[in-house]
Amino acid sequence: PQHLLLYCRPGFESDLCAEIQDKAALAGWAGHAEATPDSGFVRFVVAGDEAINGLHRDVPLSSLVFARQSLVALAPLTQMPREDRLTPIVEQVVASGWSFESLWQETPDTNDGKALSGLAKALARPLESVLKKRGALRRKAGGRRLHLWWTAGDSVQLGMSFPNNRSEHPGGILRLRSPREAPSRSTLKLEEAWHVFVPRDEWGARLNDSMQAADLGAAPGGWTYQLVRKGMYVYAIDNGPMDKALMATGQVEHLREDGFLWEPPNRLDWLVCDIVDKPVRVTEMVERWLVRRWCREAVFNLKLPMKQRWAEVQRCLEGLATSLEEARVTAEIRCRQLYHDREEVTVHVRLID
Ligand code: SAM
Repeated sequence: PQHLLLYCRPGFESDLCAEIQDKAALAGWAGHAEATPDSGFVRFVVAGDEAINGLHRDVPLSSLVFARQSLVALAPLTQMPREDRLTPIVEQVVASGWSFESLWQETPDTNDGKALSGLAKALARPLESVLKKRGALRRKAGGRRLHLWWTAGDSVQLGMSFPNNRSEHPGGILRLRSPREAPSRSTLKLEEAWHVFVPRDEWGARLNDSMQAADLGAAPGGWTYQLVRKGMYVYAIDNGPMDKALMATGQVEHLREDGFLWEPPNRLDWLVCDIVDKPVRVTEMVERWLVRRWCREAVFNLKLPMKQRWAEVQRCLEGLATSLEEARVTAEIRCRQLYHDREEVTVHVRLID
């Protein structure tokens, strides 16, 4: 059977299972999701014999909240002989008839996973050379990439990814270095959100020094720092203290007010919000901003301390989509658990006029 292989943050397997099951069913695909707790990945196995590439397209990675990577995969290889792991891998590739332009070896984002990276490294060169000889690794293979997902020393699952429907980062993880002057490590959440939600060639038009932003729950200023770095003027709303160096830029107005009640003096470009509160409450507040067109784009986090995290996220996103529709506000809504998100997800909304 063919599988969809999805990577995720360890601990969020049941959320991703629930999500992919819902979305596959909605797209008309029967099947079931399976995962081991804390393993860092999920498999969706389709029931029929229709090529799973269709599901991979129907439910693209960009539409998934809890997945870091999405691959069309073959049956997992287990209990491979320690003295020759190469042959079963090569045989499976050749039998599948697939060919690729590149080969990536990856491991789950767990301690066990990290311990496997040496093995993967040792195998890389011999594997590439044999696959080249067999014609499975070549130039002009439609940008397809072969992924080897190592889950144990003798177990690997082969998957394939396509341009425009995959993460271009190993393990689906965008690693960012925390800037030395940033007031908090949370700063990376907003930076990653821009990488994920705003195409690189649009940064100049959508993140620039002619813009004004509001940061609700801003202290000590990690997100404000990112906005200031883009040259924006920022209303920082928080009862807590803001970083002094950030205030010294003159680009920040710190207001000790309630972020749920504060209204901007004029229309702004960006609204960002990292307040720890009930997801529904945060979503409804942002919704009010969007319906009144107080901002054009918003990034906000939903904290998820509850058990049924997918259900909670879905409730919020559906409520938001419905309200915007009723208000005749056309918007693009995306949501993703970023690498720098822990028990939370990040939502991005952009108004389209
Ligand atoms: N994004 C910030 C950063 O990068 O430094 C961290 C924000 S922290 C997770 C949440 C902040 O929300 C706290 O500073 C807290 O004081 C603030 N907060 C909580 N409730 C608030 C409210 N109703 N209005 C404004 N700020 C609030």
